[in-house]
Amino acid sequence: MKLYEYEGKELFRRGGIPIPRGRVASTAEEAYSIAAEIGKEVVVKSQILQGGRGKAGGIKFASSPEEAKARAGELLGQKLKTEEIKKVLIEEKLDIAEEWYLSFTVDPAAGGPLLMVSRSGGVDVEEIALKSPERIVTEKINIFYGLMPFQARRAAFALGLEGNKVSELASLMLKLYRVFRQYDAELVEVNPLVVTSEGEFIAADAKVIIYDNALYRQKEFVKGPERFEDEREYRASQYGLSYVKLDGNIGVLCTGAGLTMTTLDLITYYGGRPANFLEFGGATYKNSYYALEIVLSDPDVKVVLINTFGLVARADVISEGLAQAIEELKPKVPIVASIRGTGEEEARKILESRVGLKLFPNVETAVQEAVRLAGAS
Ligand code: GDP
Ligand code: MN
Repeated sequence: MKLYEYEGKELFRRGGIPIPRGRVASTAEEAYSIAAEIGKEVVVKSQILQGGRGKAGGIKFASSPEEAKARAGELLGQKLKTEEIKKVLIEEKLDIAEEWYLSFTVDPAAGGPLLMVSRSGGVDVEEIALKSPERIVTEKINIFYGLMPFQARRAAFALGLEGNKVSELASLMLKLYRVFRQYDAELVEVNPLVVTSEGEFIAADAKVIIYDNALYRQKEFVKGPERFEDEREYRASQYGLSYVKLDGNIGVLCTGAGLTMTTLDLITYYGGRPANFLEFGGATYKNSYYALEIVLSDPDVKVVLINTFGLVARADVISEGLAQAIEELKPKVPIVASIRGTGEEEARKILESRVGLKLFPNVETAVQEAVRLAGAS
């Protein structure tokens, strides 16, 4: 779950990481009073979940409370990238000497956290990672020991720091690592990590992603509908289903990640394009019903392809849920299905007698028929 910048900065503040003075505002009037409180030049920062706000025009400067109010008024309610700006963060404008980069992420290859730090931060850090990776210093972290103080100092030395600055940056890294672990983050990123003209480090931006599977124990974060790309994806998550929107016209319902990917490959192989896919592994009567309901609600879907193979998740139980959904929702688009595994014969009878749906004997023939119908419509 992605956090907004202002939420990430609140975690930084709790962790003792220096952040600019400021607060979040939902109205232009609030922006005015926050800027007046700060009493100097401010930055008005659009709060959306995507990055690259600076380049997209979502970061403005204001030299008076009146100006802050005007800029906030312009931004609030506008669309930036694909998101509506509902809040702006009003912060003191920093006197920036340098823009550095600092992050902790999970390195799947190494199987543990990874520290990345660079003196070349700011808006074009991705390009630096590609063109001059030697300017990024990394440290692999053993999750059981955590970031060791010697590793933090070694990284600071590798950046060419000396004296006090080494322990200052090392201490900031250790604090940020604590935030990373305490909140079960899969990413904490400070870009830019500002070096002010007085030589102080300040986290000018905050990108934090909490690991979704840890949300059950991170109760302060609630993943509401605004955090999903799509309203159906949110609804699916409420039933423990994963729904992903794609750009074709075949709605895909499968059990298991592997079978889902294979089915998508087969669709492409036979010349079709999936409109979405919904994985309802561990299928039950109830989630089979909602799985079909969600896929059918996608207006791009011209045909639904159902492909399941279950041993523990029984074919007949899945079929009961699907039959009920078909009876109640009366889909206008054709449904093509291969439903196999335990209880397959029962499943065949249920779907044929209740809703007149004939099952295909295998996935290849089902996919070919779905592609044909999608092309014909
Ligand atoms: P992002 O584009 O979404 O990553 O947003 P950032 O918070 O990183 O801001 C983008 C850029 O705006 C930064 O790299 C800075 O150059 C600039 N910026 C942000 N805050 C300040 C500030 O307080 N003072 C100054 N001078 N520039 C800032
Ligand atoms: Mn940034």
